[in-house]
Amino acid sequence: MFSLKDIEIAQQAEMRNIKEVAEKVGLKPSDIEQYGDFKAKIKLPIKKSTKTKEKLILVTAINPTPAGEGKSTVTVGLGDAFSLLDKKVMIALREPSLGPVMGMKGGATGGGYSQVVPMEDINLHFTGDMHALTTANNTLAALIDNHIYQGNSLDIDQRRIIWKRVLDINDRALRHVVIGLGGISQGIPREDGFDITVASELMAVLCLAQNVADLKRRIGNIVIGYTTKRKPVTVDQLGVTGAIALLLKDAIKPNLVQTLAHTPAIIHGGPFANIAHGCNSVLATQTALKLADYTITEAGFGADLGAEKFLDIKTPVLGKSPDTIVIVATVRALKMHGGVKKEDLKQENVEALKNGYVNLSRHINNMKQYNVPVVVAINQFVSDTETELQCLQKLCADEGTKAIVANVWAKGGAGALELAKEVVNSCEQVSEFAPLYSAEDEIKVKVEKIVTKIYGGTKVEYGTKAKRQLKQFAELGWNHLPVCMAKTQYSLSDDAKKLGAPTDFTIHVREFVPKLGAQFIVALTGNVLTMPGLPKIPAANGMDLSDEGKISGLY
Ligand code: ADP
Repeated sequence: MFSLKDIEIAQQAEMRNIKEVAEKVGLKPSDIEQYGDFKAKIKLPIKKSTKTKEKLILVTAINPTPAGEGKSTVTVGLGDAFSLLDKKVMIALREPSLGPVMGMKGGATGGGYSQVVPMEDINLHFTGDMHALTTANNTLAALIDNHIYQGNSLDIDQRRIIWKRVLDINDRALRHVVIGLGGISQGIPREDGFDITVASELMAVLCLAQNVADLKRRIGNIVIGYTTKRKPVTVDQLGVTGAIALLLKDAIKPNLVQTLAHTPAIIHGGPFANIAHGCNSVLATQTALKLADYTITEAGFGADLGAEKFLDIKTPVLGKSPDTIVIVATVRALKMHGGVKKEDLKQENVEALKNGYVNLSRHINNMKQYNVPVVVAINQFVSDTETELQCLQKLCADEGTKAIVANVWAKGGAGALELAKEVVNSCEQVSEFAPLYSAEDEIKVKVEKIVTKIYGGTKVEYGTKAKRQLKQFAELGWNHLPVCMAKTQYSLSDDAKKLGAPTDFTIHVREFVPKLGAQFIVALTGNVLTMPGLPKIPAANGMDLSDEGKISGLY
């Protein structure tokens, strides 16, 4: 059983027609639009179903290492465990980007016996949301360049356009490009660049919109650049808000699929957590909250990125804070944080585990600052020894946190029954959510609170451009917006090599990017890139399609 790959397990699954899955949470066939037998879009607006609770569980993790943590795997397994306990549950996950699928990470649909299916479709073109977003984004780019070509009545400064083109592929060659070459009828030459679709503002807009009206309001407010007098120019001023919105008319509807055990799962919206806000759509989470008693959702990468953004950016829009935060950790990854090399991870090493525990401990304490109950899920790997697992549980218990071993990869929901029971109990605790900062704090104060209270750094250094922008944004009245940090996922600091729980470090903010549609300000730290590159041997090299149409190599 252990030799089967994720994709082989998924291909053996006996999926139910999506109508049957929808019925479990009170959705009638007329409430969904089917995309074949196993995928559907849920029609808007969503009606509330008969249910008794509205509990939200956020799954997050320690800083990722090449050893793998398995957040999605635990999220799916936990959802299936809730189903086994006869709880009305829905899972809400992000849509995979083709960047990591073809690049390093492979798919994002969980693993082993805790997966969402159909995994090939979800990891490839799914219901077309990424394509719709890419097209809408690039339509706006074309409309901007056409506006300039046709006389530029808005006086857009071509050197100050901040709306980039996007592609959902890791393509480093497109980070910096020159467009409009070839003579007078080919447009006005200017420097441009591509971001990956999942880093685009439209992705964030789609993920934070409450409904179609809010989607349009946010699109209209997007600042695409500045005039020669340095005044912001919006999409509304270009007069194309409606056109961009209509390209997203289907993408805004949440997608419904199922786990291997037929638990309903919504997979919708997929911003990266290192360069964007890292959570699935507000509409997806709201849908699950309306239909199920328990909503289990996930935020990207470690708790310093995804969970911080979930709690400080998404929660105010969602109007509901998590009832429990589950932090996923693995013995292997903590040993890496404690200095062990990847090739030596199979050997028992309690000392390294103890050394690496500081990373988990920092995340536990960070999450407790928000006044939300925390449970640790130890995602069990076959190489973990009993001594190591017990040691990790004791380290957590000594700091007052329950850590439960989950074996969802090998056993599915049955491997997380104890974890699920603990989470059910934990959700009954009454606690008042405490955000990290308030909207009134200046942008600088918000950044400093994130750096000192979450990352554990001592100070923030701003580059010349960032300093100038802080002044400009205050004058423009943008100080009230939350901050979306763009930082490496591998370390609590902005240096990917500093593992464990570094202290006494400075975070370097080189530039801010205003996202008035998403309603946050991105702070670019360290060397983080908004268009990733492919590794030496990309995952794509192991993929194939047989003559019979069977896919392999998607993990
Ligand atoms: P994350 O959400 O943290 O990025 P995933 O859940 O997508 O991680 O898992 C990444 C990979 O690790 C998947 O291929 C999955 O099968 C594998 N994996 C996760 N948990 C385990 C485990 N306990 N044992 C073996 N492999 C695992």
